[in-house]
Amino acid sequence: MHAHVDLGSVTVALLGPRRLTTTLRDTYQRAAAGVVEFDRPEDVSSRSLSGVGYAVIAVPETTDSADALDGADVWRGALATAGAALPVSVERVAERTRGSITLVGGGPGDPGLITAAGLHALAHADVIYADRLAPAVTDELAPGVRVVPVGKRPGHHPVPQSEIQTQIIEAALAGETVVRFKGGDPFVFGRGGEELLACREAGVDVHVIPGITSAVAVPENAGIPVTFRELSRSFTVVSGHDPLDENELEHLAGLSRSGATIVLLMGMATLPQTVSGLARHGLAGETPLAVLEKGFSPEERSTYTTLATAVVDAAAAGCASPAVTVIGPVVHALADGARPGSGVPASEMPTSDAPVSAASNGDTPDAGTPDPGREARS
Ligand code: SAH
Repeated sequence: MHAHVDLGSVTVALLGPRRLTTTLRDTYQRAAAGVVEFDRPEDVSSRSLSGVGYAVIAVPETTDSADALDGADVWRGALATAGAALPVSVERVAERTRGSITLVGGGPGDPGLITAAGLHALAHADVIYADRLAPAVTDELAPGVRVVPVGKRPGHHPVPQSEIQTQIIEAALAGETVVRFKGGDPFVFGRGGEELLACREAGVDVHVIPGITSAVAVPENAGIPVTFRELSRSFTVVSGHDPLDENELEHLAGLSRSGATIVLLMGMATLPQTVSGLARHGLAGETPLAVLEKGFSPEERSTYTTLATAVVDAAAAGCASPAVTVIGPVVHALADGARPGSGVPASEMPTSDAPVSAASNGDTPDAGTPDPGREARS
């Protein structure tokens, strides 16, 4: 079939394996035909063929002619059984190269924070299945690429996870180069692991390109380092999607008391349970807490509060998802004039000759004071 042919309003039935009919579909659609595809002879019926004026049986270019005729005969038989008296042609179709799926981490929302490898994958995709929190990119895409939004919002999943997996796998099996474009890093609460397993089970080539996770980048963008020498030497990233259980709360409160930073993702709806649970397990009410909403967007906003006042302050400010919540003294580590060790903003700090706060081990230098006895932080 030549692309300059204008088929006007004819609807063409393409019969054959998806990997072949997908290639033909593009050609016929360019010729302005309506297209219906069948990849199983048993789906051919007078009802499914209604409105169809022409049928094309797709056979692989590489098949020798006896095989091709056999394959075509199966479809002719199906058309006869359906009682369809249509003009039929057989087309040999070059097999597309095998499709693949690349899970691409899009970073925390700024297109500038997609990795070079991620951009390369996007530029070479036939189809991109994009999450809501993946950054908006248009400049780098190939012409004709299809972008399918499959984003989720809390409590509202327009395309269920199982359906997303089915769609990306079908597209890859049809020979397409598929990008599954996700917010942050694909393996941090992104269900990337599940998608990878589903692709492997379906026998599809699958790769992952890491992304910058919002768990680190959103605090960083708000001026909060998740670790800071002398203040916090570990951080724990927790999903607040479901309420934390008593074991988790006890464990987190213990970690936090020993100086770890807690980073909560998807934690807005469960914030009241989380903060009351941490308090019940002994975390001090004055522990600093920051809610960082919509990082890297024009609406980004930081709300600084404490464990004791978080629920009231977050409600008063109308804090909403998506937000990263940080709990621990690092919240104020870089505040103007703040000193490592106290976790308190300068304005609320004791004067310089007052005793050093209990959170400090006593030898914490003031911010900006050179500390020659210690190894430099890289
Ligand atoms: N895989 C992602 C996280 C997916 S879970 C990553 O590595 O970043 C979705 C949660 O991430 C949101 O509910 C929110 O807690 C957080 N999040 C992602 N992007 C964000 C942004 N730009 N600003 C604030 N929070 C964000």
